[in-house]
Amino acid sequence: MINTDICIIGAGPVGLFAVFEAGLLKMRCHLIDALPQIGGQLSEIYPHKPIYDIPGYPTVKAQELIDNQLKQIEPFHPTFTLGERVETLNKLEDGSFELISNEGTVIRSKVIVIAAGLGSFEPRKPAVQGLEDFEGKGVSYMVKNPESFRDQRVVLAGGGDSALDWTIFLADIAKEVTLIHRSDSFRGAPDSAQKVFNLANEGRIRLLLQSNLSSVHGNGRISKIGVTDKSKVESFIEADSLIPLFGLSPKLGPIADWGLNIDKSAIEVDTFDYSTNVDGIFAIGDINTYPGKLKLILCGYHEAALMAQSAFKYVFPDQKLSFKYTTVNGINEF
Ligand SMILES: Cc1cc2nc3c(=O)[nH]c(=O)nc-3n(C[C@H](O)[C@H](O)[C@H](O)COP(=O)(O)OP(=O)(O)OC[C@H]3O[C@@H](n4cnc5c(N)ncnc54)[C@H](O)[C@@H]3O)c2cc1C
Repeated sequence: MINTDICIIGAGPVGLFAVFEAGLLKMRCHLIDALPQIGGQLSEIYPHKPIYDIPGYPTVKAQELIDNQLKQIEPFHPTFTLGERVETLNKLEDGSFELISNEGTVIRSKVIVIAAGLGSFEPRKPAVQGLEDFEGKGVSYMVKNPESFRDQRVVLAGGGDSALDWTIFLADIAKEVTLIHRSDSFRGAPDSAQKVFNLANEGRIRLLLQSNLSSVHGNGRISKIGVTDKSKVESFIEADSLIPLFGLSPKLGPIADWGLNIDKSAIEVDTFDYSTNVDGIFAIGDINTYPGKLKLILCGYHEAALMAQSAFKYVFPDQKLSFKYTTVNGINEF
């Protein structure tokens, strides 16, 4: 079980900045994110795009901003649970909270900060009969630990950046890699597509274009995958793992059932400190709503700063908070 002062749901830019603001006030943070990597929308959707409206940066690439934010919070040693979605929230008798993830991880925390953006990104699943029966038994929709595919026969499906990037990466690790794609051109970055074509030409991967995933087979675990070509003829590939990568769509999911006031999939907050209607739970960043709300990173940063001032009262109820500039106090590691 993980014990912390503040549990932050969502490791996007706003959740990360909340660690900094909390850290200045000596509050420990644990972050949980449904994605296998840190960075929220910036790392998942547009890592290479330049952002122009972050104060102090005329331009910064989205992933670079996340990398810098991680450096900025290093002194406060946040801890992370990645690739797990928060499912259950329980309020305990002493006023603190218990969160339970879809994989059974339990986190106890004095304060909850929901920085869940547009909600948790759920994989788009292809309509293949029986696919869900093999989830966790050879079928996975994201790559959490590439090493787990070492020496396996892996089949990937999809035509976006994730499918291309993981095909390239796994070509060096897996025993055999097959990429299935319904078209003969890719949506993903042209240089990644070129690398995939090169790997296929060198015989290091099998590339099945104008083809669709059609069936899955196995006894308990996946062992064979059916693929149809453009003339709808089905052939079969022996495989240990199947990774369908057809993108992610955000869903508010279980957060909607926690007794919070919700308006059009966003959590209503008091702009005094971005607290929700449940004592001890705050919501910051894209997930919240209030009159005049703008879904901008810099607005989320402001919300994180105000939230931390109020969260302090829950973490240190006997202490008085006095406001200090970082130029006066510096950054004191703990
Ligand atoms: C293409 C694009 C371009 C953009 N350009 C700009 C720009 O130029 N300037 C700007 O200011 N903004 C821009 N934005 C908006 C900006 O990305 C968002 O405002 C910002 O990402 C919000 O940050 P966040 O931390 O609130 O949420 P997010 O970045 O969405 O992160 C939330 C995280 O919470 C996780 N999560 C959600 N629910 C759960 C759960 N139940 N359990 C565990 N984890 C969960 C998600 O997996 C996600 O990683 C752009 C957005 C897009 C899509």
